[in-house]
Formats: sequence, C-alpha cells, structure tokens
Amino acid sequence: MADTTPQYGVLLYYKYAQITDLDSLFSFYESNCNSLSLLGRVRLSPHGVNVTVGGKLSSLEKHIAAVKSNALFEGTDFKLATCDHPVDDKVAKECGFTSLSIRIVKELVTLSSDPLLKSPEISNAGRHLTAAEFHSALQGTGPLLEKDSPTCNEDLVLLDARNLYETRIGKFHAPNVETLDPGIRQYSDLPSWIDDKSEQLKGKRVLMYCTGGIRCEMASAYIRSKGAGFENVFQLFGGIQRYLEQFPDGGFFKGKNFVFDHRISVGSSDPNVIGTCLLCGSSFDDYSSRCRCAHCRMLVLVCDSCRMEDALYVCELCQKYGKGVQSVPSLENGKTQVLSLQEEHKLVSLDTKLSPQLPWSHGKVMNLQEN
Ligand SMILES: [Zn+2]
Ligand SMILES: [Zn+2]
Repeated sequence: MADTTPQYGVLLYYKYAQITDLDSLFSFYESNCNSLSLLGRVRLSPHGVNVTVGGKLSSLEKHIAAVKSNALFEGTDFKLATCDHPVDDKVAKECGFTSLSIRIVKELVTLSSDPLLKSPEISNAGRHLTAAEFHSALQGTGPLLEKDSPTCNEDLVLLDARNLYETRIGKFHAPNVETLDPGIRQYSDLPSWIDDKSEQLKGKRVLMYCTGGIRCEMASAYIRSKGAGFENVFQLFGGIQRYLEQFPDGGFFKGKNFVFDHRISVGSSDPNVIGTCLLCGSSFDDYSSRCRCAHCRMLVLVCDSCRMEDALYVCELCQKYGKGVQSVPSLENGKTQVLSLQEEHKLVSLDTKLSPQLPWSHGKVMNLQEN
C-alpha cells in the first residue's frame, strides 16, 4: 500500500552576506514561510541569515527554490533532511518548532556576551574543508599540509566548537590526534576558553567542527584574529551533518550528532553509544526526557532507571564548581530527592538570562538556538 502521508523534513542553512535591505528580506521570509506552513526559526542580521525550519518536504523544496532565486544566497549550502513529523510536543516546543519565529538580530550567533568584544571578521574565518578533506586530514593523508609541513599528525588538533551537552553524546575521535573539548555551557563561553588555551593552539593546525558549520565561521575567525601562529585553522564545511551524510557509518565521528530540532539527535549506522548517565554512569544518550541541571538548566543525561519524578539533577560543570543540590530551592511538597551533594552554596544564576527555575518548570530554555 502506498504511503500517502506527506514526507516531513527539516531544513538548515546559513549565509554570511551583507544585507542592506533587512525589511524586505523579513517580508520575504514572512510571506514565503507562512504560505508554505513552515515552522521554526529565521534569524536575519546585517551580516547574513541563519535558518532552521521544518515542514512538508515539498514545501521545503519550494522554499529553497525561492531563496535561491535571490542572488544574495549564491553558494548557500542547504541542508535538507527527511525525518518524522514531530510527535513530542514538549520537545518540538522547546526547539521552537511549534511556531514560526522570524527576528532581526544584531549577530547570527553570539560569540561573546561581552558587548565590548568586537565580533571577528567572518572574511578571516578558517579555510573550509569538505567532509572528505576533513576525513583524510584525520587519516593523516589529507591535502591540508603545506609543502614544507611534516606529514604526521603531531601538530594537528581537533577542536569541538559545541557545548558540553552536545559533545557528551557524540564527537570526533581520530587515532593520534588530540581532541580539545572546551566543555562549555554555551557558545559565548568559547572565546574565553580559546584565550586560556591559546598556548596549546599556537603553531598547531586546528581542525574545527560544529553541528552545521555556522559556529565555526565565527570561532575560527576569532582564533585567527590572534595573529602569528594561529593561521592554520580549518573548519568542517557543512558541519557534522554533512560529514555523516558522506560517511554513513560515522567515519571518525563517534556517537550521535545533537541537533536543535525535534529529532534531538541524529546517529550514524554505528550503534555505539558514547554518552553516559549522569547518575549511574551506564551507557545512555537519549535526551528526550529533557532532564536539566537545577542550577544552570543545561540538559543532562539521566537513564530510565535513574530518572525520578521529583529529582533535582546537578550537571557535571555545576558539580565541578561546587554547586550542590542543597542550594536548590525545595519543592513545595518537600519531596526533593538529593542526588548529588557538594558544598553548600547560594544558588547563583549562571546566566543573567536565566532565572533560578526548577528543571521542569516552563521557563526560558537555554542553548537551543545554536546551530
Ligand atoms: Zn542511570
Ligand atoms: Zn549545571
């Protein structure tokens, strides 16, 4: 029997370009996305656009055709993936996939929360490597090397430009290549991590990657802005998403690719799980229960057997910096389950955008707007 259900998909793309008429671009997106019933996020800035939308596959194809007719979008990498229609309302809502949000913003991605730190020039971003080039660089056979460079991987480092909760469930790992994992809660924490590690990055060939590529554009430009010794920065074009399309068995990518839509994560054909439960340490990488740290609201992994209705979880970063469960406000019914006990500290909101809400309340959700 033929399946008559229209196929559903998710489309991701970004484009850095000087946009002079933001208002007319806004109107284009508003009428185009509404007429095609696309839901998700559109961010427009004077420096470009960043789009994550979902809808019927045929509608997404029509959207791509309409966008392509604008010369501004020449060379844009449209990443279209078929997937199931969102079934979990909670996840879809968290990811912004139950409505259409079009906004004009100052920056497509916020590299720093410090308003005084000037964003680096995107034109100075690291060289793009295709998935195949990135792969062969990790194999030590790539065309990455300058003529007079050694042919070994000694000076090669992998740099994951994503957040800790993403890296937890999947990352690149290649033999004899050092992987630097910043372990950050949000992208705007990356510049200070880079500043701290600049000695480790200096003189190295840095291979950067993120989900779809946009975060590496800005971050690689930031590293290169440090000048001499920081020239050899490369970025995976199209991000992990394009790499996994090219290497369906995962290649050097182990685990799953965290995504910012209702799919939650996308894996390869390799069933290995690299995530672990925060509490018992068993293999686990499913974020669909949306458990969050009671302090910083970062997603945490809690396996089915450890998950409890009224439990409060404290992420590894908050544990490391001494934020225990004792400092989390108790529930009205007093059924607070103490799961991790560290020194008592006052509950400090780690991000000014966040109010100290309990993990299951419907507060502002952090970190779900980065691609
Ligand atoms: Zn567990
Ligand atoms: Zn935390």
